[in-house]
Amino acid sequence: MLPPGSTIGILGGGQLGRMMAVAALQLGYRVVGFAPEGDNVAADACSGFITAEWDDAAALGQFAAACDVVTWEFENVPVSTVAALPEPLLACPVRALEVAQDRLREKAFAAELGGVPAPYRAVESAEDLAAAIAAVGTPGILKTARDGYDGKGQWRVRSVVEAGTAVFPGVTCIYEGFVTYETEFSVILVRGADGEVRFWDSTANLHEGGMLAQSILPAGALVEAQVPAARELAARVAEALGYVGVLTLEFFATREGPVFNEMAPRVHNSGHWTIEGAATSQFENHIRAICELPLGGTKTRFASIEMRNIVGEDALKAHMILAEPGEPHLHLYGKAEAREGRKMGHVTRVGHALK
Ligand code: AMP
Repeated sequence: MLPPGSTIGILGGGQLGRMMAVAALQLGYRVVGFAPEGDNVAADACSGFITAEWDDAAALGQFAAACDVVTWEFENVPVSTVAALPEPLLACPVRALEVAQDRLREKAFAAELGGVPAPYRAVESAEDLAAAIAAVGTPGILKTARDGYDGKGQWRVRSVVEAGTAVFPGVTCIYEGFVTYETEFSVILVRGADGEVRFWDSTANLHEGGMLAQSILPAGALVEAQVPAARELAARVAEALGYVGVLTLEFFATREGPVFNEMAPRVHNSGHWTIEGAATSQFENHIRAICELPLGGTKTRFASIEMRNIVGEDALKAHMILAEPGEPHLHLYGKAEAREGRKMGHVTRVGHALK
């Protein structure tokens, strides 16, 4: 167990790190962040923040020397950066990052453990792309295998006609069949260093333009019926990775059952509702897990919950939300520029309390 006053290192400087740091501070820890130049809004909540490139060995050495344990808030931290840190500092094996950074690898990994992904093919060339479209069919989505997030690095192929105009983008991709689903949902779990696993309730997730817009509880009968199988897969993934902390798996709820989409080896946007809506938030339980503290309860506290992202310029008038009825909970991430399509904050609204 990491004693209070110890220092948690967070790789990445975004809003997830910021909310993790707030939870860490509450539990009496200090936080030092590390990320390249950028709008590192986590720094506001850190007692130290090192701004350096991921491959800056001297800066990483300084970071490691300041930390008692290290975690990440961003799944695209280079594996080489994490591997360069002294192994005893890592709360969670780096393998979780290796698998989750590559869409091909994460789909194969989940499939080996019994998960069902959309039909897919690896695409390394223009010929592969044509063959993949022929094999999987249309409509489909071409995605870069690495470095994509929030719908970036994705191209829809709607029809056979469009398939003829699809261009190989020059990096390894995955072409996957378009899944017809009723709802998207996520399974968020926390796994302690002793192997104990706890799940939060699964929200129905609505996306706009490939980016999460809204998470809702209750998620509806179809999702609820598919959660047990989805949880089983998530627990198997966590176990196989020797995972410690919060892990997220995203699914499509289809008439044929849950289709695995992707995993995030970290706290997740679709779990922001847990700050007010669950006995213990995803952020706090992540900190508890990596510090080997007892995990907190994950029970939902309200009959209904809605989390909505605040994107782009909507953030400029977000404080108006506080005047609305129903005690909305506003979170703003302190980002300097309200650029279009950028997650600036979120608001959580809850219904009546559950006994
Ligand atoms: P991803 O980055 O893979 O999470 O994709 C972002 C969003 O695009 C998903 O949450 C879905 O809304 C949509 N999407 C991605 N892949 C598929 C698919 N194979 N079929 C249908 N919708 C998809």
